[in-house]
Amino acid sequence: MTKYIGAHVSASGGVGNAILNAEAIGANAFALFTRNQRSWVSKPLPQLEIDGFRALLVDRGFRPEMVLPHDSYLINLGSPDEETLQKSRAAFLDEMYRAQQLGLTMLNFHPGSHLNRISEEECLDQIAREVNLALSKTEGVTAVIENTAGQGTNLGWKFEHIARIIEGVDDKSRVGVCIDTCHTLAAGYDLSTEMGYQFCFDEFERVVGFKYLRAVHLNDSKKGAGSHVDRHESLGLGMMGRDFFARLMHDSRFDDMPIILETPDPMRWADEIKWLRSL
Ligand SMILES: [Zn+2]
Ligand SMILES: [Zn+2]
Repeated sequence: MTKYIGAHVSASGGVGNAILNAEAIGANAFALFTRNQRSWVSKPLPQLEIDGFRALLVDRGFRPEMVLPHDSYLINLGSPDEETLQKSRAAFLDEMYRAQQLGLTMLNFHPGSHLNRISEEECLDQIAREVNLALSKTEGVTAVIENTAGQGTNLGWKFEHIARIIEGVDDKSRVGVCIDTCHTLAAGYDLSTEMGYQFCFDEFERVVGFKYLRAVHLNDSKKGAGSHVDRHESLGLGMMGRDFFARLMHDSRFDDMPIILETPDPMRWADEIKWLRSL
């Protein structure tokens, strides 16, 4: 059984630096932003930076399928506002294209928010249409939907939301799911007990299907089950309970995919990865 574990590392100074930052914490997977996550437009990646990233990835022994770029926080593919939607569409396509340029196979994104101006169904169907558009203009990159905590009007916290987006995507081979464990707990799936763990992932299998699972964001949660509050915590210091992490590490349904820490203290990442491997 192979577990690929890493963290969402900094790409400051160039995307290649993310590889070195991942290597430094003993990771064999990682996540990164390929552009400024808080701005709508970014300069294209220089060809030299692209070539350098691809070469270094091979050199340091990372598999491209274990690298999970995360999209900008500004993007809302479900936005009822036409101007925001157009900006989101352009930025999302750029994110997908950057992943393709870097030789990567996935882009992780947050589904979107209805802002109480359209129905949940309309919002989810719009997200699927936007994914179709981006997939039609790119090659080889899978759009990976992250489940959310359900803060505000964010959708994607119920597995049913994710299933509906997938249903609307034409090319099922290029849509997938990333389970964020903090978001899952906050959304109301109580992963902190053995029964809750079994129930949650039985539900995931029934509603979405593990065949769509492409990645995990492994986080502890400051807030309890059903809080709908998205506050990540370092492993073992939050509400998940230490047994949860052992359960997941022994669960073969999470083999061969990036398991990414988004825990708040980068100084702990190397130890967190070591601890997970020791379980
Ligand atoms: Zn995320
Ligand atoms: Zn996450």
